[in-house]
Parts: sequence; structure tokens; C-alpha cells
Amino acid sequence: MGKHCCSRFQFMRILRNITCALAVLCACGAVLLFPVLSVSAASGDKLIVGIPADRCPTFYTDGETGKTVGIGVDLFRMAAENAGFEPEFRFIGEKNIKEALDNDVYDVLLPFGSAITSKSGKPTVVSDNLFQTPFTLVSLNKRGLPSLSELKAGMLHSQEGVADTVRRLFPGIRIEFYETVQDCVDALRKGDVQALLNNSFVWSYILQKPSYSDLMVLQSAIFTMDFRAGTQDTHSGREIIERLNGGIAKMTDQERQAVVWDYTTRRLYQYGFFDYLYEYWLFFVIGGIIIIAIVSVLIIRWRMIRSRQEKKIVQLRDRDTLTDAYNLNGFRDRAGEVLRNNPDLPYVLFYNNIKNFKYINDSYGMEVGDELLCFLADRIMDNLTDIDVICRIEADHFAVLRHLDANENLGFYEKAILRPVRDFLVNQDKETRVQLCAGAYALTMSDHQAANIDHLLDFARLAEKRLRDNHNEGIEFYNPDQWNTGRLRADVAGHLPVALETGEIQVWYQPQVDYESGEVIGAEALCRWKHAKRGWISPAEFIPALEDSGLIYDLDCYVWNTVCKDLRRWNKEGIHRSVSVNISRADLLKSQSIPEYFCELLSTYLLTPDQIRIEITETAFVENPELLILTTGKFREYGFHVEMDDFGSGYSSLNMLKEVQVDRIKMDLHFLTETGDTEKGRIIVKHVIQMARDLKIGLITEGVETGEQAAFLGDLGCTDMQGFYFHKPMPTEKFEKLNSAS
Ligand code: C2E
Ligand code: MG
Ligand code: MG
Repeated sequence: MGKHCCSRFQFMRILRNITCALAVLCACGAVLLFPVLSVSAASGDKLIVGIPADRCPTFYTDGETGKTVGIGVDLFRMAAENAGFEPEFRFIGEKNIKEALDNDVYDVLLPFGSAITSKSGKPTVVSDNLFQTPFTLVSLNKRGLPSLSELKAGMLHSQEGVADTVRRLFPGIRIEFYETVQDCVDALRKGDVQALLNNSFVWSYILQKPSYSDLMVLQSAIFTMDFRAGTQDTHSGREIIERLNGGIAKMTDQERQAVVWDYTTRRLYQYGFFDYLYEYWLFFVIGGIIIIAIVSVLIIRWRMIRSRQEKKIVQLRDRDTLTDAYNLNGFRDRAGEVLRNNPDLPYVLFYNNIKNFKYINDSYGMEVGDELLCFLADRIMDNLTDIDVICRIEADHFAVLRHLDANENLGFYEKAILRPVRDFLVNQDKETRVQLCAGAYALTMSDHQAANIDHLLDFARLAEKRLRDNHNEGIEFYNPDQWNTGRLRADVAGHLPVALETGEIQVWYQPQVDYESGEVIGAEALCRWKHAKRGWISPAEFIPALEDSGLIYDLDCYVWNTVCKDLRRWNKEGIHRSVSVNISRADLLKSQSIPEYFCELLSTYLLTPDQIRIEITETAFVENPELLILTTGKFREYGFHVEMDDFGSGYSSLNMLKEVQVDRIKMDLHFLTETGDTEKGRIIVKHVIQMARDLKIGLITEGVETGEQAAFLGDLGCTDMQGFYFHKPMPTEKFEKLNSAS
């Protein structure tokens, strides 16, 4: 069994051949006879016939007429009408025919292979056979099956009645029941059962479904079962069956075959959406891709057209039609945006005016004037990047907002713009030199934030006016100091990464001494920068510039690491030194975990916390007390010494001494040497020393420049000192040579 398989199409062909051969002979007669019989029985006793719902083509509802039809329906109708009944078919609501037997609504039920007992155990009586129903096994391709008596087969729940007959025929067969055909097929595919069992006519219908193309009818497994009507074995039940048997006896084989032939030769299975999807999935996929591609192209095109239109609208609204530069309106927007997006870049705003433009227009005509304007705009545009902006404010007045790269000065303006414009007419063999005046304004940090373009233009315009009033040409700055600061910032900030790598920046040490013994008791690390372009620059210049541009942390990390490396080297040489390092207030804002960073340095370079002293400038304490209290607390917790730097030079807040715990005050003597009453200064120093002593806080004085100052401090008991009188800051090698290092 199961060795000879055929596809569902072959199977259907065989089935048709069998039925055709018998039916063709009598088809015409039977078809003619059938309506006659129907009409004659139309007025008989009503008979309610229960039939299963999921059995096309044996029992089903015709999609077009809505009538209950099928092989079983038509054959039974024939027999019933022969017997004088008027059958009414109802699909049973029960799970299977066994349960339906206990429902008295039905006079008879279809189909029975043989008499079975109802669910509740009542015996049944069945009619004579209406026709032989071939039963067939269906399995997956190439799967070898055991014999029927050892087979595990799947059937529909609704066929439990049939299953009883099958079990009687093949006692060893094991049958699993499932709710739907799909459940049966799933079980077969999973291997839960080896084959599925159903009536061949039903298979001929089901196997038309494209997604069941892997199922095969096992030809050799065909066996036939009777198709009988049945009901409870009661007196009335037996009467109905007897009458029906009379009707069945009147049916000819030709009539029966004609009905079977009629249904099995029709293509009853209707394709649903998923069947089409299964059958034509490649077509759907390709179609889908094509549709998506077309839609995408259309969307992209539509967006391109829209953005082009938007650009055009913006162009008309924000641009000058002659030169394509921004107009004042557009300039305000674009310049504001550029400044906000580049808060750290130094910018200069130029206000350009052609002094003799009216003369040029009058002498050479408007056309030449226009050409000159376009030439000027082009020259400027050639020298701009996309973070710069040009604007034609009116007539011959142009504004330019241009950023400055590191190492850049205004040479480009003179060379690339002023000079060619000056010679524009001369180069056309005209005698007039164009006189161009440019007022410049170097933007400050707060200008970036406020981005009040009209305000900034006023500054640049004032500078331009000053130039014109003085009968000069070229460039005039509104704020030369700001310009210099801006240049410094650009030089310093733009060049820092390179400087750190190439050794332009060095760490120097200024020794700290004990006045009484003259011994070096420590040192302060101070950085020095030999700038490639500017030469030596003082920390007083570059530290604020780096603080402003947010880069001081990079420099300080470098300094701290260098100091730790030096300390490690000295430790290895057996010299245990302590060094004070500066922490900028901008560092504290940049990173909240500087104390932890120092702990990492200790473990990286195998140092002890007493080797690093942390100097935080006094102004930082006043500016951000909460952060300072927190950071100082952490530093001290980790064992570092914290010093309040520049005490007395800034906006001292004596109150901070109460709030913040520091180990040492670093008193700045510079404030004494500058201006004011020296005597009063001495009194202040005396009291600061006394105050530190009373508060039990250490004290060191920096900025000691003379022996007199040193003696004065020594007499008052402040012996820790740092200043030019003892040593100036010096390179590492020189510092190492100092014999008295502790
Ligand atoms: P500071 O921390 O108060 O450093 C002491 C400054 O006083 C140093 O100036 C030092 O050269 C100078 N000085 C020392 N003794 C005398 C003296 O007797 N007379 C005079 N007139 N000056 C003396 P320097 O090196 O120019 O540093 C200036 C400031 O720049 C430092 O003040 C410090 O706040 C900052 N600084 C220097 N290096 C660094 C650094 O690596 N990182 C940070 N964040 N700041 C640094
Ligand atoms: Mg310091
Ligand atoms: Mg200081």
C-alpha cells in the first residue's frame, strides 16, 4: 500500500474516466427522467435530513443559487422522492454524525457506511446503499506508508461515524481527528499522522487548492464504503428507512452514475485571494516591487519639483536678482543661523561701499555699473565658504559675514577682493580706479548669541563711514582690540591640537621654598607655549582664550599627565617631590569627575596623593560655590591637598573660607606691588597671615619679588614662598638640577 502514488490531477482524471464510461451511456435518459421524478414527489411527506457541512462535492451550498446540493444530496433526494418524501436538507450543527443522531430534529442523517451507535449509545438503523463511495488516502510525496491495519491516519471530527466503519474494516488502524481540513494537512506535514483519509469526491475538490499541491492521492489505497441514510433504531425510524429502501430500489445505476458524473466533472473549487497569492506569488512580488519602484520614483520626482519650487520662492524672497547675493531680509536670516550654528568660530562682518559709484554710473552708464557690482559680488563669493554669507544691502553697499580660519589674517581681503575691484575699470581701458571702502567689525562671543544683525551692521557701517570721512580706502576696524583678541583666539584655539603634539607647549616648574631653610619644598607647574607663528605667548593671554573656546581642559589634561610622568621619573630616581597643578574653573564646568581623573593618574603613574596639590583660583570659588564645595570635598576625601589660588587678587570672599575646606591658601603678593598704599597692604597681609593661623589653614605667598618682601613675610611667620626673588618658572631639566629638591 502507498507505493504507487499519483498527483491529484492524475487521480481526478482516473476518477472521471471511471464515471464517464458508465455515465455517458445513460446520461441523456437520466437527465430527462430526473425532473419528472422530482415533480412527482414534490407533494410528499416532509423529511428533515441532517448532512455534514464540509464535504463539497457531496454536500455543499451552491454559491450562485444558494441551494443545498451535491452528489449525496441529489442521490438522496432522488431516493426520497421515489419513496414519496419531500426532503429538506440541513447542515448539522453537531460535531459529527454520532452526536447528531441524538438530536430528534433530524428524521434521517447522511452519510453512514454501516449502522453505528449514537454518541449517547443508542442503536441506529440504516438504509440500503445509495451508491459506493470510494475512500482514498492522501499523503505527502514519496512517503512510504505501512499497511492499512497499522496506519496512523487523520480524519475530520465530523467523520467520526465513518471512522467507526473504517475501524471495523481495518482493526489496527489508528485515527486522529481534526476540526478542519487545514488542521488535517498541518498534522500530516508535521508528521503527526502518516496519511489523511476522506472520500475521493471530497479529495477531488480539496486537492484543487494550489497550496495542497504537495499532497498525493495513494491510488492503491482506494477502498469503497457504502453511502447510506440512517436514523435512531426506533419504530418510526425503521418505517422511514423501509420507505426509503423502496425509493432506493427504484433508482437505476445509470441515474446514480449520472449524478456522480455531473459533480465530478465540474470544476467546483473557487479560487480565493490566498490561492491566487500562492499560485502567482512571484507575479505578486515582482508586481509589488515594480509598483513600489514607480511610487518611489514619483515621490522623489515630486519632492524634487517641490524643493525646486521652494528654492525659487526663497530665491525671489531672499536674493538680490542682479548679483544673486542675499538681500537684507535673507541676510538677516542666514547670518543669524550661521552665527548660532558656529558659536566658537571667530567672525568678521564687512560693510563694503564703492565710494565713486555714482560717478562711474554717470560716466560709463548703468550697464557698466551693474557689471562692476556683479564683479564685486563674484569676487567676494569666490572667497566664501558655505558658513559665510554675502548680502547686497542696496545699490553698491555689500555686507559680508566671513569666518576666520586659524592662521588667517585679512590679507585675502586686500588681495582677492579690494585689488581686483580697484582695477576693474582700468582693465577695461577706462581711466577710473574704483574706490572701495570696507568697514569691519570683529564679532564677540555675545554677538554670536544675540545675533542682532542690524546692530552688527551698524558697527561695520560706522567703521566704513569713518574711513570715507577721512578720505581713505581699504579696511577700517570698528573695534581693533576685539579684532586682536579674536585673532588670538583663532590662533590659539585652532592651533592647540597641533601644538600639543609637536611639543610647542611645555610644562615648566616654579620652585616653592622654605624661607628659613632655603630648601625647595615643592613647585608649581606652569605651562609655556612657543607658538609657531606668534613666538612665546604668555599664559595670561592664551589661558583665557582657551577658556573661552572650551579647550582649556585639553591643555590641562596634557599638563597634568606631563607632571605625573615627571613625578614618576623622579620617584624612580628616589626623589619624592610634590607639585602644584592649576585647575581652571572652565575645567570644572567641563567635567564633573576631575577628582576621579586624578585618582586614575595616581594609579597609572604609581604616585601617592600627597605628590599632587590642586590649585583652584579664588574667583572660581566665588562664581560657583556649590560645585566647588563638592569638588574640593572629593579631592580631600581622596587624599589630595587643595589650595585656594590667588587669594587676595580677585573678588575675595572671606565667607568662602568658612564654606569650603582647603588645606592651604595661596596669597598673591602682586596686588601689593601694583598700586595703592603699601602700608595698608602690609597691614592686610599681616592680618591674612594671622587669619590663616587662627583658621588652622596652611599659607604660601606667591609673587615674592624682593628680599624685603620675603623678610617681611618671614618675620610674620609665613615661610612658604614662591616668587621671582627665589626662582622664576624654569624648564624641567633646569628644575631637576636644583640640588635642594625635597
Ligand atoms: P598662577 O597659578 O597664579 O601662577 C602664578 C603666576 O605668577 C605665574 O604666571 C608665574 O610666572 C607668576 N609669578 C610667579 N612669581 C612671580 C613674581 O615674583 N612676580 C611676578 N610678577 N609674577 C610671578 P604665569 O605662568 O604667566 O601664569 C599665569 C596664570 O596662568 C597662572 O596664575 C595660572 O592661573 C594660569 N596658568 C598657567 N599655567 C596653567 C596651566 O597649565 N593650566 C591652567 N589652567 N592655568 C595655568
Ligand atoms: Mg596657580
Ligand atoms: Mg596664583
